[in-house]
Amino acid sequence: MTARILVVDDVLPNLKLLEARLTAEYFDVITATNGIEALAACRKDECDVVLLDVMMPGMDGFEVCRRLKQDASTAHIPVVMVTALDQPANRLKGLEAGADDFLTKPIDEVALIARVRSLARLKMVLDELRTRALTSVSLGMPDPLALALAEDGLGGRLLLVDDRAASADQIMFALRDKYVVEVESDPQEALVLAIGGQYDLFIVSLTLRGFDALRLCSQIRSFERSRQLPLLCLAEVEDRPRVLRALDIGVNDFLNRPIDRNELIARIRTQLRRKRYADRLRDNVQASIELAVVDPLTGINNRRYFETHLGALVSQAADRGRPLSLMILDIDYFKGVNDTYGHEAGDRVLKAVAERVRKVIRVPDLVCRLGGEEFVIVMLDTAIECAAKIAERVRSEIERDRFIVSDDGSRIAITVSIGLAERGHDVEPEGLFRRADRALYRSKTSGRNRVCADAA
Ligand code: GH3
Ligand code: MG
Ligand code: MG
Repeated sequence: MTARILVVDDVLPNLKLLEARLTAEYFDVITATNGIEALAACRKDECDVVLLDVMMPGMDGFEVCRRLKQDASTAHIPVVMVTALDQPANRLKGLEAGADDFLTKPIDEVALIARVRSLARLKMVLDELRTRALTSVSLGMPDPLALALAEDGLGGRLLLVDDRAASADQIMFALRDKYVVEVESDPQEALVLAIGGQYDLFIVSLTLRGFDALRLCSQIRSFERSRQLPLLCLAEVEDRPRVLRALDIGVNDFLNRPIDRNELIARIRTQLRRKRYADRLRDNVQASIELAVVDPLTGINNRRYFETHLGALVSQAADRGRPLSLMILDIDYFKGVNDTYGHEAGDRVLKAVAERVRKVIRVPDLVCRLGGEEFVIVMLDTAIECAAKIAERVRSEIERDRFIVSDDGSRIAITVSIGLAERGHDVEPEGLFRRADRALYRSKTSGRNRVCADAA
């Protein structure tokens, strides 16, 4: 994996040192010597991770970080603050400014590379999601980035995996007014809970008695259901090599004991903010995919979906020598419903018709709204005789009970006309559709509220 790292430092030798180390690991490196230059490079989308010096003349690193995180076009770029001051107060200030991590000078080379690598990986995932989510904005959906920026990382349910009561009590106490925290001392049980998906984040003590906490972390990462669960490890200072292993496995962050309460909260918030941001993007991508193939009024598939799938269903049936029938359904005198009761009443009827059709059609059959008051149903493994029975069931289900058209519960009678055709020797789906449509026309012209089947 190659990524472009922006190193920001006002002291030239520091820049050169970091540049050399990162270049040796095959990262692309660009540099900036002040905050203004750094902000400009980020806005031009020139980097994947920022290593940001805290003490700089003019705008300091905290301010640069704050500005990056407040701007929707740069908020997703991971920021690592680099400082000589190893003071909890400074770490906290950086995390509160939105920094994703902290490194202290002199920089531990292994930790540097591990951090940069894991943040670059995160950035790649976010880039992919952002690109897809941004196309959904053009489809008229709310801007996921703006929504994500409003996320404060507070609230949520956390699980603490720790088998030492005193340590667990201390952490529970520290988080009591910010999060719901439960404790689990059995790692097997913790894995089950992780897969269960009820928690927003796990805090795992690296020093469990009689069990390798790293194994638990890697197991959590290996299950689909828990792969995205944020993991925060608690370590002893001398655990350094295991912390690096943990980051390698995919643990998101760690904290050394003794635990500083504010830093713990700040790190949890960073993880939750990031997780919720990614979740939101993912939901948005999913929603935009659905938007393209689902009719928003009735919740069933739309014409586009029907057209892209009919061909495949027909040729699959042909390959297997199985029958397949097509039903087109059109509401009778629907224009009159709109004209008499209003468009909203018409919409209610459309929704209710879709529901009733779905109720009497088998699950594997495909029901789509073609547009207007026309629906189409593809019946798999169904010859025309059987299709005629199903169509009659649909017709009478619509006719049987009147449809609600307003809040006061007033109802009107609705009927539908149906045309049917069965797949013949032609594999072309257009021919099948045309025959069903002709049959529908016959239903309409011969009196409506009836089923006509294609004669061929
Ligand atoms: P026929 O029995 O011959 O099918 O007559 P009809 O009135 O049902 O058919 P026509 O095609 O003349 O009218 C269809 C009407 O459906 C016209 C249009 O205003 C209405 N319509 C189309 N889409 C929607 C919709 O999404 N909501 C509502 N409320 N009405 C719709
Ligand atoms: Mg109609
Ligand atoms: Mg029509």
